[in-house]
Amino acid sequence: MDLRLSPAEEAFRAEVRAFIAERLPADMRARLRAGHPPRKEDTVKWQRILNERGWAAPHWPKKYGGAELGQMERLILMDELYRAPAPLPQVFNVTMLGPVLMRYGTPEQCQHFLPKLANLDLWFCQGFSEPGSGSDLASLRTAAKRDGDHYVVSGQKIWTTTAHWADWIFALVRTNPEARKQEGISFLLIDLKSPGITVRPILSIDGDHHLNEVFFDDVRVPVTNLVGEENKGWDCAKFLLGNERTGIANVGLCRERLDYAREVASRTVQGSGKLIDDVKLRTEFASLDAEIRALEVTNWRFLLTPSAQAELPAFASILKLKGVELQQEINALLARIAGPNGLEKRGKDDTVHGPLTPRYFYSRAASIYGGTSEVQKDILAKTIVG
Ligand SMILES: Cc1cc2nc3c(=O)[nH]c(=O)nc-3n(C[C@H](O)[C@H](O)[C@H](O)COP(=O)(O)OP(=O)(O)OC[C@H]3O[C@@H](n4cnc5c(N)ncnc54)[C@H](O)[C@@H]3O)c2cc1C
Repeated sequence: MDLRLSPAEEAFRAEVRAFIAERLPADMRARLRAGHPPRKEDTVKWQRILNERGWAAPHWPKKYGGAELGQMERLILMDELYRAPAPLPQVFNVTMLGPVLMRYGTPEQCQHFLPKLANLDLWFCQGFSEPGSGSDLASLRTAAKRDGDHYVVSGQKIWTTTAHWADWIFALVRTNPEARKQEGISFLLIDLKSPGITVRPILSIDGDHHLNEVFFDDVRVPVTNLVGEENKGWDCAKFLLGNERTGIANVGLCRERLDYAREVASRTVQGSGKLIDDVKLRTEFASLDAEIRALEVTNWRFLLTPSAQAELPAFASILKLKGVELQQEINALLARIAGPNGLEKRGKDDTVHGPLTPRYFYSRAASIYGGTSEVQKDILAKTIVG
């Protein structure tokens, strides 16, 4: 297998790079470069710019506003967005819910929601996890009882990223408590303005508000908001969690953060020279460069080899596991290089290099969300043992 980009792919990379250089607002880039998480208004503004080109939902069919990009082109687009750095298309709308609606939704649901998802006219969040139901998601207990042409939903979700920004939530709910646990679950779209919903913030270790608890107290949801069949929501959930592996390794993110580590080291005085000249540090950079390249090649092999995709759980687990390890290592290195200058003064944007220590803290969560590292290792062990 030729593990280089083809001339057409190289041309596509150049096209994306030129587009980003021309259209990405400088202040947006500067904030992300310094390690701030993307703000809602920036993500919305940028996604609309991408949407003009069909790149907000790059793999979607053109009839729904996508660009029908293949996996490699899509990976290139993501890499370039990370590299810029620019906000990525909103993951819950574009990567998770959109494809589920296309596969399981009614034509009316597709027509109503898909254009709004691509243009971020509606912001969705993901209501899967509950207290006690994370890795063992099928044990979830939030109940939805049928009452005429509505469901009445009661229960609680937790770790709901951006629920405080969101207009809607897609949620897994239990519609049949008697059935085997995977068989009594349904997939519902719920308007967060519905009476009976409370969103409560969870502040994370970086001091920011990304996460929430969402409480449902007899919330009435029209039956027309059911996606797929009643009690078949687990199929939607498996499809949602399993179909999206293209960018799972986050190679572009690793590379951009390592570039920034070099930039910060070149600005940092050490003795009579600069930190970037430190031999031990340069060795660390070289070793991380090699690891990122190895991860990239593994990602390409995964995308380009049909048999690798057939062995999806194990291959995807390697990419997630290794990608997260590298992200965390590079964030730790950045925090170490910045030293006290990476500490954020709460509520202000006035750190010397950006809030690199808080970023490092938050990067610890990457080995929990999207399937914990221990669970990935379980999958690998089962594959290897047979
Ligand atoms: C930053 C962040 C954002 C998130 N955003 C969302 C969101 O937007 N929407 C949403 O629905 N959820 C979200 N989650 C929740 C996330 O999906 C869960 O935290 C994750 O699935 C783990 O579940 P849990 O927290 O219940 O931990 P548990 O499943 O209880 O795991 C606790 C520990 O036990 C280990 N463990 C569990 N099962 C096994 C096993 N079979 N073998 C070996 N070890 C095991 C785990 O690895 C972990 O170390 C988010 C989480 C975080 C941290």
